[in-house]
Amino acid sequence: MGAGRFAFGWGAMASLALVAGSSACAQSKPQDTEAWEPVPPVVTPAAQAGGPPSDAVVLFDGRDLDQWVSVRDKSPAAWKVEGGLLTVDKSRGNIETRRSFGDYQLHLEWRIPEGITGSGQGRGNSGVFLASTGAGDRGYEVQILDSFENETYVNGQTGAVYKQHPPLANAARKPGEWQTYDIVWRAPVFKTDGTLAEPARVSVVHNGVLVQDDVALAGETVFIGKPSYKAHGRLPIKLQAHGDPSAPISFRNIWVRELPPRL
Ligand code: MG
Repeated sequence: MGAGRFAFGWGAMASLALVAGSSACAQSKPQDTEAWEPVPPVVTPAAQAGGPPSDAVVLFDGRDLDQWVSVRDKSPAAWKVEGGLLTVDKSRGNIETRRSFGDYQLHLEWRIPEGITGSGQGRGNSGVFLASTGAGDRGYEVQILDSFENETYVNGQTGAVYKQHPPLANAARKPGEWQTYDIVWRAPVFKTDGTLAEPARVSVVHNGVLVQDDVALAGETVFIGKPSYKAHGRLPIKLQAHGDPSAPISFRNIWVRELPPRL
């Protein structure tokens, strides 16, 4: 704020106080509303847009899958890593992080292969499970799908919280182009007796477009039936090897920043 604007603002406030005949406003000072602590931690942003900030846990930087295991048997993840990319191997099933997380900010980039075939849910289907609550597809899935001119149920297209919240917009790029997700995940909070205290909440930015705005989840995302919660703590993040017959998708540049819990 420049000095001129400050002077104008303060003068205007004093004038208002005179008009109102009140001295309370005139006695307050700008310093009364300044906060000096706690001081936010210094986080050095990446040199390149989309890169991991200094406090990020890098989950995939193009080199190896050391941070990931197979969901089936917790053996080292064996999807294909080549040329800096991670490509789904559908025969190997889902993979998840070795580490467990609570609340976090997640960045990941993914690409539907050029020339992909299939339709609806059978066209470039994958997904990111924000907390893996069990084997297979158990957890809370933000859908990944080829949603560029590919019709399906709207709460199952890219950017959907699967079968709970359709995206606010379809921001899909064409197959062959890299796409980004920036996700803020607030894990559900459970009481000591296992009942729900606070539902999970999520915000998703897809290719720079807000597609989920702090929505509350009704429970785990499920293919059939109604969602529900079952108490859990910190959990891994999971990527989906969907069984659709279309060509597998690829990932790159995956990192996460842990956030202080809400409660
Ligand atoms: Mg999926």
